[in-house]
Amino acid sequence: MLKKLINLIIVLILLSSCFLSWSNIKVEAKTINDLKAELNELEAKDKANKKQITNTEQRITQTRNEIGQINIDIENINDEIIQKTAEIKELDQNIIEKDQEIKATINNLQLSSGNSIYLEFIFEADSITDFIYRMSVSEQLTKHNNDLINEMNDMIEANENRKIELKKHKEDLKQKEINLKAKINSLDKEKNNLYEFERSIADEIKTARGVIDMYEKAGCGANEDINVCANRLLPPDTRFWRPMVQGYVTSEYGDRIHPIYGTKKFHSGIDLSNSDKYNTKIYAAANGKVVVIGYTSSMGNYITIHHNINGKKYTSQYLHLKTGTIKVKKGDLVTKDTVLAIMGSTGNSTGPHLHLSIATGLYYKDYSTYAAFVDHLVNPRAVVNFPSNKSTYWYNRINKYN
Ligand SMILES: [Zn+2]
Repeated sequence: MLKKLINLIIVLILLSSCFLSWSNIKVEAKTINDLKAELNELEAKDKANKKQITNTEQRITQTRNEIGQINIDIENINDEIIQKTAEIKELDQNIIEKDQEIKATINNLQLSSGNSIYLEFIFEADSITDFIYRMSVSEQLTKHNNDLINEMNDMIEANENRKIELKKHKEDLKQKEINLKAKINSLDKEKNNLYEFERSIADEIKTARGVIDMYEKAGCGANEDINVCANRLLPPDTRFWRPMVQGYVTSEYGDRIHPIYGTKKFHSGIDLSNSDKYNTKIYAAANGKVVVIGYTSSMGNYITIHHNINGKKYTSQYLHLKTGTIKVKKGDLVTKDTVLAIMGSTGNSTGPHLHLSIATGLYYKDYSTYAAFVDHLVNPRAVVNFPSNKSTYWYNRINKYN
């Protein structure tokens, strides 16, 4: 019975995984309206995220105010402790003074000097009336003395207790302040994450808008399959952009000693790198259409894109891309803000870098052999604005240096 049940579960798991892999490979036709719906989703996410940022910032302000109030409370407690200490000191002084005062009064009443002034005072009575009077004065005096001192001692004790209470309260407040500061730290972290998400979603929105704009300008219908439409098109652009936001030239186009073979060999493109290595996003150098996603043992993972720059046709190639990071597919229309993949070191490569080749004409369309492609190559510096000095860092995709 149990064995049958286990078999049934295994069959169900196998069936569901078959279904999942089948649904994963299913390619759906996408239209401009679908892209707009995706854009709306992104914008809604962005809006919700912005709301959360406002909310988090309010909570940070509120927590800061709480800490401010605690600091005021602690200051007040410190003032009260100082006051209670001063009062205790004054009471101590009062007790000493009262004691001296009583002794002075007794001395005035004393008829002869001796050790036991009270008793002497009483036994010096010359009549029973005088004796009773002296007894009563002496008792009242002693009682008055004791009452006063007891009262002051009680006040000292009350002040000492209040001081203990205040110190305890102060410790509690300090602990609360520590907790609130920890809360601010975690809220700050939360806020930073939200801002980071905002930046990445802003990038996605910008790209999504660019793509929609491109398909619309190209005349694709709102409900037309964009892959079908894209096949007819090559989106225009006015210039090439650096394919990464930050970077520097590590090796020039043209004749060079090959870093792996050590022999003189023609370098078909320009090599670019970046200290961020395997996190560097590689962008399309201009609007265009992806025509090849490929792999060879020398080029590694690579992408080939067709461009139409001011009516002139070009082909760009991006080599050595990191495995598993390619974000476009054959037939995709891309803008210069489309992330193609992450920089890598696949194929013949000594370290993470991008090899960018640019040729005139459309490879695989205007000509189809590698030799013809090599014949059409241009120095990428002729069309992309790279700093003239090798190793000079740039920090954006267009200006002369940064
Ligand atoms: Zn290279």
